[in-house]
Amino acid sequence: MIPYGCQSIDQEDIQAVVSVLESNYLTQGPLVTKFEDRLKEYCGVDYAVAVNSATSALHIACLALGVGKGDLVWTSPITFVASANCALYCGASVDFIDIELSTGNISIAALEKKLAHAQANNCLPKVIIPVHFAGQPCDMQAIHQLSKQYGFSIIEDAAHAIGSSYQAYKTGCGKYSDITVFSFHPVKIITSAEGGMALTNQKELADKMRLFSSHGVTRNPDILTGEINGSWAYEQHVLGFNYRISDIHAALGLSQVDKLDEFVAKRNRLSQQYDKAFKALPCTPLITKPGSLNSYHLYVILLDESYDRESVFDELRKNDLGVNVHYIPVYKQPYYQSLGFDNHYCDEAESFYKRIITLPLFPGLTEKDQKRVVEIVKEVLGSLRS
Ligand SMILES: *Cc1c(COP(=O)(O)O)cnc(C)c1O
Repeated sequence: MIPYGCQSIDQEDIQAVVSVLESNYLTQGPLVTKFEDRLKEYCGVDYAVAVNSATSALHIACLALGVGKGDLVWTSPITFVASANCALYCGASVDFIDIELSTGNISIAALEKKLAHAQANNCLPKVIIPVHFAGQPCDMQAIHQLSKQYGFSIIEDAAHAIGSSYQAYKTGCGKYSDITVFSFHPVKIITSAEGGMALTNQKELADKMRLFSSHGVTRNPDILTGEINGSWAYEQHVLGFNYRISDIHAALGLSQVDKLDEFVAKRNRLSQQYDKAFKALPCTPLITKPGSLNSYHLYVILLDESYDRESVFDELRKNDLGVNVHYIPVYKQPYYQSLGFDNHYCDEAESFYKRIITLPLFPGLTEKDQKRVVEIVKEVLGSLRS
């Protein structure tokens, strides 16, 4: 089976992890800070808080922005459930913005319409979480402009998109948002096994996120109230969590950053070859908008509408392709259905979901295997043509 995604681990990565095991610190040692500093520099952002997953990063990002009971958070339906769950963790409500078919990202037109409607009904969102689907940045300048007009904060869910850029800006630099979140899960662009990071240019948000990521407890002399005396003093200021990442994970993440640009370049090369090979086939790859560098976490095609996606999917799997579907619209999940969402809540997300298949794409995919993927897709689309 050729999987849809796979980590690339080399001897340097292995050595980096082994070195930590031979050192004095397994957790909260020097490498967590080094990992943060490295990505701050890479992205051109002032503050970074490394945590044990992007899910944790999304949660502390919402908390730092003051999301709570009675608040509304909007995100894309075409994402992993974590993008929406983070708001529910805080006691807020979630709503979904419909997408554009060509990229799978939220539609700016749909967002404008939804905001105007929400303003008229006095139910504007506190935070919007755009998801850079498959590694392509959303139109952040437009979303940022709307945030000024309507007064919401922005968390970029860039779990797919480390290494991408929009206009002249690296994703994570915070030019058009308050906080950006990365994931280092093994299927993503770079990995720390489990891990995530939240980046921001606002010191107050960074301090809050750090506090929430470690029990709400601080020893930072800048923020100690002095209510507990003694040089051993630490203070709990808020109800936080243990979302810390270990030095073992940070060592792997740090070592992987060295290869980030190379991984993204390889993913782009492979995607261009797919694009070319599929030109004559009855399917449409997602487009990359001009002015953006797509990090190509996923290679997604839209089947022509005449196909039954399930038959194509099953046939590809039978031929040993580890294809997948990204994503089942979040509002279709039984849990979200129990919150009252209509099963066909967003029209474009529905059309998208009916037609998508994710094909194998990862830096270690060989020319030979890619050719095999193309041949099998050709054959299956040919044989199932209705
Ligand atoms: C993977 C993913 C997450 C969650 O990342 P973890 O590090 O596994 O918690 C969040 N959002 C999106 C869009 C993802 O793909």
